[in-house]
Amino acid sequence: MTLDKDCVFCKIVKGELPSYKVYEDEKYLAFLDIHPILAGHTLVIPKEHSQDLLHTSPAERDGLLEVVAKIAPTIVKEVNATAFNIGINIGRDSGQVVFHTHVHIIPRRHDDGMMNWKHQTVNEAEFPRIAERIRKGL
Ligand code: AMP
Ligand code: ZN
Repeated sequence: MTLDKDCVFCKIVKGELPSYKVYEDEKYLAFLDIHPILAGHTLVIPKEHSQDLLHTSPAERDGLLEVVAKIAPTIVKEVNATAFNIGINIGRDSGQVVFHTHVHIIPRRHDDGMMNWKHQTVNEAEFPRIAERIRKGL
């Protein structure tokens, strides 16, 4: 398995750093985020080191999402939440600070005071041009 000796999450995988584990199998690990947005905030990671989701294999991505789907309902139930957000930050400007692929599971409840992203009203005339650029770029 590829591990990075300086990576915080690899150290958790190796047991060199402590964590509050909630799930583990051969390929994946889930543990509580040490600075939770809300109680029960959990990180799911592949044990194999990669810097972000775009640097994982399709099979690993599928497996990661499977673990998220498997454990999220129990997290929600056990912290008395009613819903959850899944978050994946890719790139420093998105807020990614740990460069080992991870998915945030953030329990939510009605009136929890958390703000979702603020949507903007923009000039709809821009949409065809933006969509076309993306389509052509793919
Ligand atoms: P991101 O901003 O997507 O890179 O998120 C990284 C997350 O890892 C942050 O929410 C941190 O609070 C969390 N984190 C960093 N170090 C640890 C650690 N040793 N144990 C648990 N969570 C951690
Ligand atoms: Zn790592």
